Amino acid sequence: MADSTGSTPLLIGVDMGGTKIAGVVIEAPRTHSTSKIRVLAQSSRPARPGADALVDDVTALVGALTTQLSAGAGTVTAIGIGTPGAVDETTGDVNDIANLGITHVPLASAVQARCGLPVAVENDVNAAAVGAARLVEDGREAGETIAFLNLGTGLAAGIIRDGELDRGSSNTVGEIGHIPVEPHRWRCACGQVGCLETAGSGGAATRLWPYASPPMPAILDAAQHPHHPHHEQAVDVRGTIIAAIADAIDVLAVTVDPNVIIIGGGMAKTGAPLLDAIREELRVRGNTSGFINALNLPARLRLAPADLPVGAIGAALGALHVPAAV
Ligand SMILES: [Zn+2]
Repeated sequence: MADSTGSTPLLIGVDMGGTKIAGVVIEAPRTHSTSKIRVLAQSSRPARPGADALVDDVTALVGALTTQLSAGAGTVTAIGIGTPGAVDETTGDVNDIANLGITHVPLASAVQARCGLPVAVENDVNAAAVGAARLVEDGREAGETIAFLNLGTGLAAGIIRDGELDRGSSNTVGEIGHIPVEPHRWRCACGQVGCLETAGSGGAATRLWPYASPPMPAILDAAQHPHHPHHEQAVDVRGTIIAAIADAIDVLAVTVDPNVIIIGGGMAKTGAPLLDAIREELRVRGNTSGFINALNLPARLRLAPADLPVGAIGAALGALHVPAAV
């Protein structure tokens, strides 16, 4: 595929995390293409607080990524950014990026003015959902519904129906981490008590298991070994975390009924031991409930690819639709 200048159109994707900003350059995929995503360049830099620093850092990252491209690789046509906070994806403005102390930033227009390219801004979980759905093979079937369950600092889901993000009326679809049904009744940053993300998230695991970082592999390991000094505590913490994640999966199953549920976010890098623990909990629930058993949830679960920057790739794919892009 080539644009009017004859060179391959490329997209830059930027994923704003809690501590770092990561970016990729990919070849713009053809519509409905099942070809592999080709990552041509990758870079990252630490995230700094404040709106001005954010725009400076994204601009510098775009520059570093462009510099990495070999001559003749193609022409960057658009930039996509996935960010935490309240995103207005039509204007590209973002409010309340709490971890960077930002109350408002006109992110798309500011980066566009600095880089000279059209910019699309998307909620970070939605961007990761787009990336994960494209990278996990099941996501390529037309007409499928895909849920992406992000186990990061918080717990949230992105929903894709027939290739399109479901945003709802006010971008609240998928905020299932704030369903207040967790029995410990811990207070959540949102002001409620008992939110699922107070137990079923990477942030919760860090709070509940201060002995190791990242905590989840250590929790699962200690819970497996009776002679571990914190074994009993690990069994308890594992039960708390996995129950909350299984609750979130139950919620997705009965509200969205997705073909596939992709587990992503930092905790998903735990890999197979985490997937096994979640599947086991779902099987136990199915043993006492014919209703849950018939949903066949263990078979619907997948892990997001741990070796690819899913969020940045999804952000880049989101830039496909920005005006003046390919
Ligand atoms: Zn909450």
